[in-house]
Amino acid sequence: MQDAADKRLKIEKNLRLAISNNELSLHYQPQLSDANEIIGAEALIRWNNPELGFMSPLEFIPIAEETGLIIPIGKWIIETVCQKIKLLDELKLHLPHIAINISAKQFHQADFVSMLVHNVFDQKVRSNRVMLEITESVFLGSLEEAIDKMHSLKKSGFSFSIDDFGTGYSSLTYLKRLPFDQLKIDQSFVRGLVDNNTDAAIVKAIVVMAKSMGLTLIAEGVETDKHLAYLSGLGCHDFQGYY
Ligand code: MG
Ligand code: MG
Repeated sequence: MQDAADKRLKIEKNLRLAISNNELSLHYQPQLSDANEIIGAEALIRWNNPELGFMSPLEFIPIAEETGLIIPIGKWIIETVCQKIKLLDELKLHLPHIAINISAKQFHQADFVSMLVHNVFDQKVRSNRVMLEITESVFLGSLEEAIDKMHSLKKSGFSFSIDDFGTGYSSLTYLKRLPFDQLKIDQSFVRGLVDNNTDAAIVKAIVVMAKSMGLTLIAEGVETDKHLAYLSGLGCHDFQGYY
């Protein structure tokens, strides 16, 4: 227990300095259509610390959320993504959008909407180049506030993807009431797709539901040609993953 507490403290102490020490970086995982076109990318954070080495986001993001460090880190991600969009445009490498993962804690900040809008507009990036990925945890407890924020961001031109769909507190009421543009099929279902009948049935149902609700669909965790062929056969035509 003591070892775990010491490690956590060490992570927290180092994480406080990660931005100013330039230890964070973003990696962009492309999203492709089955016509093999790049339709976007998701920004994924990595942290390399001299003392701790490469830290998995699975380990440090929960600590960032508990300590509130997710707020400055989240802001840094938004700024860095905007710089990347500008750089790619200057290089004439057109990327339709970059998706940013927004933490529930960040989304619930009173100034989240204005912070995001100002950052993006100050850097002269058009808001339709930024897609916001949020998970269902954002709606726990404060659905009305979330709906208001989403609507005002939609008015400013941002689009929304529902991340890790089906793994949390999936409520179809949320889906009905919230102005999502895209639904992201979670990698845990994609992984089992080919061999597991239940996963295949879940994905099939998600595809039908998303289509009838007018949402675009993307599958994450696409790692083999079999995943790709199976998803395509079910009617999902956009993909993200190592394959
Ligand atoms: Mg995501
Ligand atoms: Mg995800």
